[in-house]
Amino acid sequence: MQLSNIGTVKEILTRYGFSFSKSLGQNFLINPSVCPKMAEMSIKDNTVSVIEIGPGIGVLTCELAKRAKKVVAIELDKRLLPVLNETLADFDNVKVVNQDVLKTDFHQLIREEFPGEDVVVCANLPYYITSPVIMKLLENHLPIQSITVMVQKETAQRMCAEVGSRVSGAVTVAVNYYAEPEWLFGVSAGSFMPAPKVDSAVIRLNVRQKPAVTVKNEKHFFLTVKSAFAQRRKTLPNTLSSGLSVPKAEIIQMLNELSIPENYRAEQLSLEQFAEISNYFL
Ligand code: SAM
Repeated sequence: MQLSNIGTVKEILTRYGFSFSKSLGQNFLINPSVCPKMAEMSIKDNTVSVIEIGPGIGVLTCELAKRAKKVVAIELDKRLLPVLNETLADFDNVKVVNQDVLKTDFHQLIREEFPGEDVVVCANLPYYITSPVIMKLLENHLPIQSITVMVQKETAQRMCAEVGSRVSGAVTVAVNYYAEPEWLFGVSAGSFMPAPKVDSAVIRLNVRQKPAVTVKNEKHFFLTVKSAFAQRRKTLPNTLSSGLSVPKAEIIQMLNELSIPENYRAEQLSLEQFAEISNYFL
């Protein structure tokens, strides 16, 4: 069955009386070149197991199952379960779990489904929860090697930006703290049914064995990053003073001690400098 063929997709969805849910971010891939490429770039060989988030009708799942040891696909929409039962019938290495990814206990899932195995995540993410899902996967320090995901192009650009560059944001710092992001390829809006308003891109986050910098307290580190970026145009004494509830004079003293110019903005700081600032106050 060619699941990326628009005729096949329409036939299956009509037969099951399925209508797309906008609120669940359901834009299904209908470009035949995308899923094989994503699977290829996510799985190095057939000893690797995969967690997929949001299989839809299984177009990416099939490509993952052909290449991986085992695939566990987490799908929230119950209406897709009978469809997946049919489209994945040829594979004995796929398990579909009917769950909300935001409520999934990934440590437990990996312990139970993939003990001692190399695990990667590969998904065409529902766009309404892209950042929470990625941050959940990273913040939990899961034993996974990489996260290969389709996200909105603008999100991909932010995540893959250099820390300390104009396009960087809090999410750039967060992603780079846990992983080495890599831009893989762009995907046009017309590759989906229904077509979203914006283009997409596939990125791979190669998860670091240990975070890029040493911080005394991760929670405080991310509060520092969030505070610094809260008002992009303002300089650090202003943003950090309000975000960390520290008098401006103390922020200025700290910046002087760390040899960071007082007129710097968040987008000019390196990961190391964010860590130094956070560690200074602990
Ligand atoms: N993988 C399919 C494809 O590429 O055609 C579908 C991708 S579609 C962008 C996102 C999928 O995520 C949908 O199947 C949707 O039902 C599912 N989904 C949405 N919210 C979810 C959640 N909280 N937990 C798990 N799956 C979810």
